[in-house]
Amino acid sequence: MNIHEYQAKEILKEYGAPISDGVIISNVSEIKDKIKKLNSKKYVLKAQIHAGGRGKAGGVKLVNSISELEVEAGKMMGKILVTHQTGSEGKEVKKLYVEEASQISKEFYLSCLIDRETSKIAFISSTKGGMDIEKVASDTPDKIVTNKINFKDEGPNEKEVENIISIFKFNDQQKIVAKKLIKSLYKILVEKDASLIEINPLIITKDDKIICLDAKMNFDDNAIFRRPEILKLRDLNEEEPAEIEASKHDLAYIKLNGSIGCMVNGAGLAMATMDIIKLYGQEPANFLDVGGGATKEKVAAAFKLILSDKNVKGILINIFGGIMRCDVLAQGVVEAAKQISLSVPLVVRLAGTNFKEGNEILDKSNLKILSASDLNDAAKKIVEAIN
Ligand code: GDP
Ligand code: MG
Repeated sequence: MNIHEYQAKEILKEYGAPISDGVIISNVSEIKDKIKKLNSKKYVLKAQIHAGGRGKAGGVKLVNSISELEVEAGKMMGKILVTHQTGSEGKEVKKLYVEEASQISKEFYLSCLIDRETSKIAFISSTKGGMDIEKVASDTPDKIVTNKINFKDEGPNEKEVENIISIFKFNDQQKIVAKKLIKSLYKILVEKDASLIEINPLIITKDDKIICLDAKMNFDDNAIFRRPEILKLRDLNEEEPAEIEASKHDLAYIKLNGSIGCMVNGAGLAMATMDIIKLYGQEPANFLDVGGGATKEKVAAAFKLILSDKNVKGILINIFGGIMRCDVLAQGVVEAAKQISLSVPLVVRLAGTNFKEGNEILDKSNLKILSASDLNDAAKKIVEAIN
């Protein structure tokens, strides 16, 4: 789960990290009143969308007066912002964050994340922070330093903290703040089950202060049940409607841009199914894992979800029944197809627990189904059917 910059900054503040004062606005008319809380005469106006790259897309604007702020806010609110992270359809700006502007002397990059490969917590530091970090990573990877530390309750030790911040060449006063910041990031990652905290840029101001000028946080969906205070920060406006529907049914679903809808059990099999569709020259419309032990209602919900995607020109069901029973799967599909007419080709490959019963249910259903003997055959048939 992602949250907005202003929410991430509230968490940073709670953990004692240095941020600028700011106010959140969902209507331009609120500006005059809310702005009274700020001390500055110069502001930075920031579009709150769940995507980075706002600066280059006109989603971050420095202004010198309240009147200018109101004019610019009027332009930014409701705008569709297209950044390198939103896809071509962009994202509509529904909230604005107004912050006291900072005078920047240096822009650094700092992030903290779970490194799954080594089961450690990684801190990434770079003196080339700001809006081009992706370019830095590809052109000059030596400008990016990664420190991986073992998980421990007390957090990183003095030596580890020093290694993380050493490339920044901070003065003594800044070091005190930076060391505390590293410990705070670690604590947030662990205590809130974040999987990524990114501060880009972490700045030094003209008067030598350290400030977290931007903040992105991502949380582990599988742990969110034990972090109700984080779940409260979820903004459904920022999420794909089909994915919201899927989460109601506890389905692992991710919408993609291809034309073959996939219904699979098990994440590994789902990945393999997507790969083989690509091998035959087509693109999957989604990733969908109905999971083990799904009920027929859950299967029906999954099937309807696939059918609700206008890009879907064919469906491939690929089930290897273990805990999931193929007959339950078949019942769910038939049920959903009764409610929504099936107008696209459907290829089904069932194997494992109760596959015979499953195939019988599908045979008797009058649904037009192409059955397949294995994964290769299934992918080939669905690609031929839609071509
Ligand atoms: P992003 O483009 O979505 O990552 O948005 P950021 O919050 O990182 O802002 C983009 C850029 O805007 C930063 O790298 C800064 O250069 C600039 N910026 C943001 N806030 C301020 C500010 O208070 N003062 C100044 N001078 N520049 C800012
Ligand atoms: Mg940024």
